[in-house]
This record gives sequence, structure tokens and C-alpha cells, in this order.
Amino acid sequence: MKVFIKVLRILLYFLGGILTLLILLIIFKISPALWNHWTVYPQLEKERLALWEQYRKPKQIIPLRSVKGVLHAHTFWSHDSRGLLPEILDGAKEAELKFIFNSDHKRYQLDTFPRGYHGVYDGIILESGTEHSSGLMISPFDSTVVDWNKTESEIIKEIAQNGGLVTYVHSEDEHDWDDPYYHAMEIYNIHTDVKDEEGGILPFVINGTVNHKYRHWGFREMYDDQTAILANWDRLNQQRRVVGIAGVDAHNNQNFRARYLENGKIEWVGPNADTLAIREPTWFDKLMMGEPDQYGWAFKWELDPYFNSYNFANDYVFCDTLTNTNIRDHIKKGHVLVSFEHLAKAEGFQYYALNNGGSLSGIVGDSVQVGHVESIHAVSPYPVKFQLYRNGNLLDESDQDYEYKFSMNTQTGNYRIVARVFIGEEWIPWIYTNPIYVYE
Ligand SMILES: [Zn+2]
Repeated sequence: MKVFIKVLRILLYFLGGILTLLILLIIFKISPALWNHWTVYPQLEKERLALWEQYRKPKQIIPLRSVKGVLHAHTFWSHDSRGLLPEILDGAKEAELKFIFNSDHKRYQLDTFPRGYHGVYDGIILESGTEHSSGLMISPFDSTVVDWNKTESEIIKEIAQNGGLVTYVHSEDEHDWDDPYYHAMEIYNIHTDVKDEEGGILPFVINGTVNHKYRHWGFREMYDDQTAILANWDRLNQQRRVVGIAGVDAHNNQNFRARYLENGKIEWVGPNADTLAIREPTWFDKLMMGEPDQYGWAFKWELDPYFNSYNFANDYVFCDTLTNTNIRDHIKKGHVLVSFEHLAKAEGFQYYALNNGGSLSGIVGDSVQVGHVESIHAVSPYPVKFQLYRNGNLLDESDQDYEYKFSMNTQTGNYRIVARVFIGEEWIPWIYTNPIYVYE
């Protein structure tokens, strides 16, 4: 009997030890997330609000409307997304988007357009496109069949010559940068930014779970300046115009969700929209699942809902009319600002050149003869630090202000602006403009 009690006691100590270790490990793993929740994120919220309170509507110099949208997003048409129209539109409305140019993964080697969502839905333009595995995004803007058995350069040429838009996405990967026909490249992509994290995705999952009301700051944990990509972009622009855009790579697929099927069974859907199980509901399912929400999900744990991607990195396009083709045409002209909308709304931000008579001689993305550029200007709805880059090198920077002016000294080159806001004790990039190309 005595021996038995002794063994039991040792066993209890052992189990107690394991349990204590486990608890310590959990505390250790979630403590950064808790620190964020109680200290870091409330402070960031306060700073962001203080910035928003300094809003001043800039006067309109550029005689074109600027419309906000996203490029490179996925829907149910992709194998790794379940995104349906109601979820897409709700996310887009919350993020105040006017357009989404989707880039779904193709289903067949013969890729028929238009397909998936294509048209104007509740005033939001959805355009269908394909993201090829090599990091090529094509938007044909036409009824056509793309044959992916052709070489990439053939496809790029065909799409470009028929009026479509061709973008290199995932600019961290190899591309044929010297191809003469593509129009644009991503200078920022959320997924690119995730991939370079050293600790893997687990810290984001933990942080995202603890801090779902601060998802925008959670997303920011992975943010890095994409300096190599920007350097490559600057290099290419010294040969010809390559438009810089932001891609969101929205999938709404880093989730665990469950739904009732019509036959009474239930389906669990995991990360990358994979089916985990289809079965008769068990006691566990009944415990976890409630009434289906408006999208049909009866259980939902989400890391990347559409809104958070759609509101993270945006493209403002200066255009005449709110149509898919007019937005496309102005993207090709480089009339684009990339903004991190979760920091502040870039509506009203403008970048332009004036001639010696004080008249507008060019806007963001334009090529202007040097004799027509007396000064270049940027105006912002919030006080920012303006940085002027010439051919990729920092040329000038301002103190915190709403306006910026640089007087030209007949020097040709590509001039682009980075506007930074002061949040979290540092000047972080908020806007990247496309260059104004000043030539001889
Ligand atoms: Zn993608």
C-alpha cells in the first residue's frame, strides 16, 4: 500500500510539473499578443486618431477624380478561396472601394473571359483576371480565350496588344523584367510581406486570435519596407515606364469555418479553403456551430477577412469616368498612388508638376519635357514627411507638413514621392507615388 501511494505521489508531481511547464509555455507564447492588446495597440490607435483629427481637405489641382480600389484579389473561382459576392461586397463597401481587379487562379489551360464576377455590383466594379503561377496577372478586358500552353511572353504580348492590362505580381520572384509589353508591377503585396517573416506564421495566428479587434495592427506586424523591390522598380523606370501598384492578394482563406450542407451534413473548411471534413454532425460540431451568419457560416475563426486585406494596401487611380476601361487606361498611364489605407485615407492626396506660368504641366505618372517643369508639388490631407526620390535616390525631404514644393533645376530624371506618417515612434511609409518622368 505504502509503495502504491509513493508511486501515485511521484506520478502526481510529474503530471503537475508537466502541467506547470505547459502553462508557462502558453503564457510565454501569448504574452507578446497580450502586451500588444493592452499596451501597444491602444497607443497606436490613439496616435492614428490624432493623425485623423488633423485632416484638412486639400484643394483640387488635378482635374481628375481619384478612385480607390484594390488589385490582385481572389474569389471562389480560385482553388484556394471560397469568397462569394456578399462577403466580397461587404468587405469592399466597408473599405470604401470603387473597384476590384481580381486575379483568380485559372481552372483550365484554356482560360475563358469574362468569367467569375465581372461587372458592376452595387456600384463596385469587379474585373476578372488570372494570376498565373509564375507571378503574372492578366486582365484581358475582353471576351477572349487565353491559351496558357503558349509561352509567357506570347501571352503578355497578346493581352497587351488587345488592350488588356498585364502586371507582374509577387515582384520578389524572378520575372522577365526586360519584357517590353507588361505595364505594371507590384511594389507591395501583402503575401510577399508575410513570406519574409522569420518566425513563421504562428506568432501572427496567436496575435490575430488575441487581437482580432486590432487586426489592422496585427497585419502590420509583418510589414517591411520592400527595398529590393523598390530598387528594381526604380531601375526599370530608367528604361521605360513600369507602373508601380499595390496588390492585396486577398483570399479570405486563413480561417477555420464550418457550414451546413443541403444534405444535412456539415463541412469544415480550413486554411487555403481546403475541406477538412464532410460528415454527419457530431456532438463536437453541434457544440461549436451556431446559427449560420449572413454568408452561411455556422462557425468562423478568421485571420484575413476581405475587409482587412482590402483596407491594407490600396491603389488610387486618377481617372475621368468610373468605368473598368477608364481605370485600366489611367493605370497604364501611371496615374496611380499606392497608399496604406489602414493608416489613413489618401483621398485628396495629389502629386503634380507646374510650369513657369504656374499652370499644371503634368500629374503623377506623366512624362513632361523639362522646360515645362518649374516645380513639382505634393499636397496631403494630413501632415506628413515628404521624401522626393530621383532615379531611386533620396534627393530631398521636408519637415512635417501638408504641402511640399521642389523647385527644379533643369535636371531630368524620374521623380517620385514617399509620404511618411509618424506613428509608433517612427516615420512609416503611407504613400508611394508613381514617378513624374522629366525628360530632355
Ligand atoms: Zn494571388
